[in-house]
Amino acid sequence: MDTKYMLLTGASRGIGHATVKVFQEQGWRILTVSRHPFSEACRWPAARESHIQADLGDLDGIEQLAQIVREKLPNGQLAALVNNAGISPKGEGGSRLGVLHTDATTWMQVLNVNLISTALLAKALAPELIAAQGSIVNVTSIVGSRVHPFAGVAYAASKAGLAALTREMAHEFGPLGVRVNAIAPGEISTDILSPGTDKLVKDLVPMQRLGTTTEVAKTIQFLCSDASSYINGAEIHINGGQHV
Ligand code: NAD
Repeated sequence: MDTKYMLLTGASRGIGHATVKVFQEQGWRILTVSRHPFSEACRWPAARESHIQADLGDLDGIEQLAQIVREKLPNGQLAALVNNAGISPKGEGGSRLGVLHTDATTWMQVLNVNLISTALLAKALAPELIAAQGSIVNVTSIVGSRVHPFAGVAYAASKAGLAALTREMAHEFGPLGVRVNAIAPGEISTDILSPGTDKLVKDLVPMQRLGTTTEVAKTIQFLCSDASSYINGAEIHINGGQHV
């Protein structure tokens, strides 16, 4: 069987790090993107040459990033693009940043990283995704569809936008043979959570626990596998029932 290649953004820790492990176990080759150099960003075996340092907030750099990715694909095919990188700026003491406390710079930074870079990356790598008849997975959030006690407005708007973008892309890329889906995590145990989230979990989450990064990574793997071959334009909740 031919080796499958994926591009994963935000791979250095949290959900991204777990995703690397799950895909490696399935024999995939993973190209990773992070703001940091390999030595600081990624510690998994044999990945140094597969790591690309790039800031996704710099939209002018996306085409250059895509060119580096292309050069690393021996057969010109990209079987999966996982848009996982995300930022969630907080106020003092981890407080929620509402409209009254969010400045223009923060708005642009969050929208560039969480939303616009994903569209530009998919556009730039469309020929390689089509060649592989591959999959795109966007990591949205439960916060895109309901107000959350900690997440800020820019983050919420970016994730709602990413859910809409997923539907638009599923419609546009479907005829080209590329499936586009999203996963919407709830409270997953990573650095992005605000202090105090674990205490809220009993009220927020019917399953009364945080999710693990591996549980999320396995759902991403499902959406990039033949097991989901007729799923397109879906946003899968992975939140222990929090959305109900
Ligand atoms: P994390 O903070 O642990 O990891 C975020 C990753 O994104 C890191 O690798 C970071 O380096 C990368 N990143 C951030 N800004 C970047 C930039 N400008 N350029 C390149 N890379 C950048 O967070 P996580 O919890 O693993 O989050 C992963 C995704 O899951 C995010 O999109 C987040 O919004 C989403 N999410 C997380 C939760 C949760 O509870 N942890 C819930 C809902 C959604």
